[in-house]
Amino acid sequence: MLVDPFGREVSYIRISVTDRCDFRCVYCMAENMTFLPKRDLLTLEELLRLADAFITLGVRKIRLTGGEPLVRRNVMWLVGELGRRLGQGKLEELTITTNGSQLTRFAVDLAAAGVRRINVSLDTLVRERFEAITRWGKFDKVMAGIEAAKAAGLAIKINMVALKGVNEDEFDRMIAWCGAEGFDLTLIETMPLGEVEGDRVDQYLPLSEVRARLEQRWTLTEIPYRTGGPARYVRIEETGGRLGFITPLTHNFCESCNRVRITCTGTMFMCLGQEDRIELREVLRASESDTPLIRAIREGVARKPKGHDFVIDRRHNRPALGRHMSVTGG
Ligand code: SAM
Ligand code: SF4
Repeated sequence: MLVDPFGREVSYIRISVTDRCDFRCVYCMAENMTFLPKRDLLTLEELLRLADAFITLGVRKIRLTGGEPLVRRNVMWLVGELGRRLGQGKLEELTITTNGSQLTRFAVDLAAAGVRRINVSLDTLVRERFEAITRWGKFDKVMAGIEAAKAAGLAIKINMVALKGVNEDEFDRMIAWCGAEGFDLTLIETMPLGEVEGDRVDQYLPLSEVRARLEQRWTLTEIPYRTGGPARYVRIEETGGRLGFITPLTHNFCESCNRVRITCTGTMFMCLGQEDRIELREVLRASESDTPLIRAIREGVARKPKGHDFVIDRRHNRPALGRHMSVTGG
């Protein structure tokens, strides 16, 4: 088992399979991004070996993310292999976070591999806004992808980043739509990760404020539901749907953190909001034995910090970290 110095058991990993993406969401990336050279990436076989090492150490849940995980060439091979670990009882859950652009192609295969739930990022139901926020995204393609995922039997959670002055008039509509479609919804605060063109102080909308507004229209009941992630959930009595809040800035969500993140180059970040890391790629390549790899993973978990220290205010109007969310994996 992997237990950090604060007694938190690490049973969950997020693997960013690529830093590339077919969108350029304004809060996530600059339009003109430089991506990692392909030669720095772990192969899919190496990513699987890494995942297996974590499974040996007691990890039971894996989420694939990115960048856009479904644009990595042949990624369904990795999904299929991890799916076999589900079938063998070595893993309890395999999930993916996606922008939805490739779901018409892959929804059926994801379900067949044993994926039961997916997170789809969708910040707006208004086409023009969608195209402004994602810059390169195609609204109809994403909506068709979400429909395909639903038809394939995947449970869907919509992730919506709350953006001041951009989509804050749409929470009610999104709640109603998710309720009607049978989707869960999670609202996320913007986090100060990586340089983007916009001003994050302008985008930042505290969810405490959003929640107070929602409570005037909807009946929100606290529920103990947890997915292993950082969201706190309520039930919306009017729709029967679940609504989660991810509030890294207004509420420190670190105390129950049970995860580490692996990038597509094999860097393990013990915290989304800190620089400390362990490089696993060379350790993995240096030996066919997993012993050094397992030792390095343990060493990393032993350095897992208590929490992040994000701040967004006028005095700190710079990214808390240089790296973008698409590198560490959201
Ligand atoms: N491309 C996939 C997607 O968009 O779902 C997976 C990776 S994306 C980095 C994962 C999640 O991070 C998305 O829901 C996205 O909205 C969120 N995200 C990206 N940058 C963020 C930021 N600076 N603050 C808060 N959430 C962010
Ligand atoms: Fe791509 Fe996801 Fe970042 Fe948008 S949030 S640019 S879809 S990685």
